Amino acid sequence: MARYTDSVCKLCRREKEKLFLKGQKCFTEKCPIETKNYPPGEHGNSRRMKISEYGIQLREKQKIKRIYGLLETQFRNYFFKANKQKGITGENLVKLLERRLDNVVYRLGFASSRKQARQLVCHRHLTVNNVLVNIPSYIVSPGDVVQIRDKSKKLDAIHDSLKRIKDNTYSWLAVDKAALAGTFIEIPDRTDVPLNANEQLVVELYSK
Ligand code: SF4
Repeated sequence: MARYTDSVCKLCRREKEKLFLKGQKCFTEKCPIETKNYPPGEHGNSRRMKISEYGIQLREKQKIKRIYGLLETQFRNYFFKANKQKGITGENLVKLLERRLDNVVYRLGFASSRKQARQLVCHRHLTVNNVLVNIPSYIVSPGDVVQIRDKSKKLDAIHDSLKRIKDNTYSWLAVDKAALAGTFIEIPDRTDVPLNANEQLVVELYSK
């Protein structure tokens, strides 16, 4: 499968804000956004022309897509799914993205970035309801229990990451740090999801 292999910090600089793609580095002064908060490239720091309505929608779509670490086709497929569901399409989209297993692992604090969470899943370190799952896009349902497998419970990366997380940071998740397990209690309301983005602009972009 195609992967983005260039520096992920460039993606944050392109959106001119922290997207928290790199794990621990994002919380230190080594984060390039702290010193170079302008788009990468030769003309990144020069004055820019006024951005069009299409440009604004495109940037918002790119931002959300990058935060969740998806490629265009994957992201668009989530939009189509969200569009078929009842309710507000933009909110459905965010709720679907939040239910991805790699995102849940990240939110539970077992990984310091969604990329690292994806690696944990792909490298078979996790179970859902006591069944091994190695598919990062697996959609977690209310009541599901996500747990680190016994053989992986000593991984330093997991324990380092957990130090960053306060207990019960998210109302829809319950973390048991001792058992390295977490329950996905319910699908969160959009207002509860800490995502600094306007998903309605994505709906407008894809509805053209
Ligand atoms: Fe983005 Fe993290 Fe890199 Fe900072 S360190 S630019 S937040 S990925």
